[in-house]
Amino acid sequence: AEFPVDSDSYGYIPQAEFYKVEAILRPWRLPHVASALLKSGIRGVTVSDVRGFGAQGGSRERQAGSEFTEDSFVTKVKLEIVVSKDQVEVVIETIIDQARTGEIGDGKIFVVPVADVIRIRTGERGLKAERMAGGRTELLSNMN
Ligand code: ATP
Ligand code: GLN
Repeated sequence: AEFPVDSDSYGYIPQAEFYKVEAILRPWRLPHVASALLKSGIRGVTVSDVRGFGAQGGSRERQAGSEFTEDSFVTKVKLEIVVSKDQVEVVIETIIDQARTGEIGDGKIFVVPVADVIRIRTGERGLKAERMAGGRTELLSNMN
């Protein structure tokens, strides 16, 4: 995978400490994406079942052929992952690696600035709330 590692060089606009990586994916790629994310230490993930309309149009997933029907939305999953700025690119990279087939309908990724993260249980905010036990930061620091 060819992507720059220096995360400070990403000038996402608007600037924020945290971003939400929101990905619309083919449902059958979800297990692959999820396990790869977990392996990289990304543990906080929210998934929703959604229906959408893109270049794939209303055509159903591949097993149903490419017949165009305007009134049927395609079933997708939406993945939402909030991470600190330095982890955005690894999340994007992992999703592309695991979700891409090269065919129309692979989906899209949106990067959204997030103003704050609050852990309800403790009231912690910011980086304290975003960091998770056994998360990527811990994983990386245990390797050194
Ligand atoms: P606690 O230690 O209190 O359990 P936590 O940080 O582990 O806090 P949870 O309360 O276990 O978080 O998370 C509840 C739900 O919030 C998860 O099931 C997931 O859907 C969502 N979630 C948590 N963290 C993130 C994140 N960073 N990005 C996206 N969704 C998240
Ligand atoms: N950034 C967090 C950590 O390093 C993990 C966040 C997440 O899993 N979404 O612990």
